[in-house]
Amino acid sequence: MPRNTRRIVSRKQVRFAPVDAVQEYIHDAPGQVLACRDTKHAWKLKDIEGDRETGFVRYYRCACKATLIQTIDANGFVVGRRTKYPKGYQMPAGTGRLDREGQGLIRIASAEADLRAVMMRKAMRSVR
Ligand SMILES: [Zn+2]
Repeated sequence: MPRNTRRIVSRKQVRFAPVDAVQEYIHDAPGQVLACRDTKHAWKLKDIEGDRETGFVRYYRCACKATLIQTIDANGFVVGRRTKYPKGYQMPAGTGRLDREGQGLIRIASAEADLRAVMMRKAMRSVR
């Protein structure tokens, strides 16, 4: 490579969500949404179409109301995967991606909700 020639990998700048936007999002987001962002979706199969010759389309749903449509071909390879998120799951368009700090804020909010839920459960148990 000649001198003074920089290889440009990507000109696209990644924009990250500002902390105050993440905090606002956390304030408005349902608890299950924060839990799913924290620990990933727990997909439950809702429906399936197809057969061994054609392949299958499987329909999943999560407690946060996100849906996943997975298409597998006759060889069992995943050839399609589409996730649809419920309203309010994604941050407003143009907010930017979550960086580690933003993910940390969501994880803390999710852990605090877990703590409240466990404390409530323990309190209910001690009443009985
Ligand atoms: Zn989910």
